[in-house]
Amino acid sequence: MQTNRIAVVGAGTMGSSIAVALISRGFEVVLRDVDDQAVAVGIANIDRLLKSRVDKGLAPEEAAQQRALVSPTTNLEDLADVDFVIEAVPEVIELKKQVFEELDQWCNVDAIFATNTSSLSITQIGAFTRRPDKVVGLHFFNPAHLMKLVEVIPGLETSADTVNSAIDLGNALGKLAVRVEECASFLVNRLLGRYINESLWCLSEGVASVEEIDKAACDYVMPIGPLALRDMNGSDVGLAVARYNFQEYGDRFMPAPILEEMVKRKLLGQKSKEGFYKYDQSTRKRAGSNPRLAEILVRLGGSADQAPPFEVERLFLPMINEAFLVLQERVCDAEDLDPAMMAGLGMRRGPLKLASEIGLPECLYKIDTLNKIYGERFRPAPLLKRYVWARRTSVF
Ligand code: NAD
Repeated sequence: MQTNRIAVVGAGTMGSSIAVALISRGFEVVLRDVDDQAVAVGIANIDRLLKSRVDKGLAPEEAAQQRALVSPTTNLEDLADVDFVIEAVPEVIELKKQVFEELDQWCNVDAIFATNTSSLSITQIGAFTRRPDKVVGLHFFNPAHLMKLVEVIPGLETSADTVNSAIDLGNALGKLAVRVEECASFLVNRLLGRYINESLWCLSEGVASVEEIDKAACDYVMPIGPLALRDMNGSDVGLAVARYNFQEYGDRFMPAPILEEMVKRKLLGQKSKEGFYKYDQSTRKRAGSNPRLAEILVRLGGSADQAPPFEVERLFLPMINEAFLVLQERVCDAEDLDPAMMAGLGMRRGPLKLASEIGLPECLYKIDTLNKIYGERFRPAPLLKRYVWARRTSVF
């Protein structure tokens, strides 16, 4: 399918950066939001993102041409002749229902609807329309104009043509488009959640400091440490995601209690100027770890004396184990897993590569050892055991 005019519904953080990703590849964008003010905020954000591209060398005429591809609107009528819609309204199921019912009513019967939801069911959203075969998840990462990955998630009724159109669009935006079967948090955020949560457990136990944890992760494979990342996204958002994963997957995702303590004290991260780190009021730059953590750690009564000494692998073993669970469930093709994690998170090596570097028997041994101390979080994935029994040295 040839897609040229695309509607972006919701001109917030994601909608405006998705619009920039689209116009920079020559797509016309109809940008819809509920009122003039919300549309104006989206347009201002697009202008800001384009300006930063001009500052980095984009020709001003080129930026102006791209900007001219955006038609802002509050009218549903203006969506009548687009052939692809990307929905990016807030993550509230009742709101998605209202928006998809409207889209179904106003858009061409052949138009494809993609949702950028991070956690809601694609199948459920598809069922709000009379065209569930044309509804697909297209999960961008923030900021969408820079991040190199999109996850393409079919719902139960999504047709192969719709999936292919979504993959084609992702590729046309210069991104790696990876097909991911529907599961809570999809692929990258599911694996990320296990790793961030483990960093919080390590901190709570007192086996390592904020700086030690983040430095270890960065020295190993990450562009940013898990606690700095939590501060960037906000502990309140992180807690909501952690609770959702816990509800969907059970005990291995049980949120480390420190996160709730942080939220209770409004230590939300960059947006509240303090989280695991403190932030300079004006520059937003990190200014050392937050001394208020000491009181929380005492309250949580860390048990460093029973815990093994901190090793960076402890952060990544839950991610590796989850990667084997994901493969076992056939959530994605094995060859796509590491590239998706690298493109989505900026990892220098993906979890399957890390597993083969550590050695699969050693991975299993370490996970098993931690399982005896921490229980469910480290229950070895059956597929990992099978690889070890089969004496495989890597997944490929
Ligand atoms: P946001 O709050 O920044 O923006 C949402 C926009 O939708 C607002 O401008 C709001 O006015 C608008 N809106 C509300 N009702 C509308 C309607 N009926 N029609 C049109 N527009 C409407 O939210 P966001 O952070 O951009 O998130 C949007 C979606 O993207 C959510 O589903 C979220 O889970 C997902 N997502 C967010 C991120 C992220 O990091 N922020 C990353 C990946 C996916």
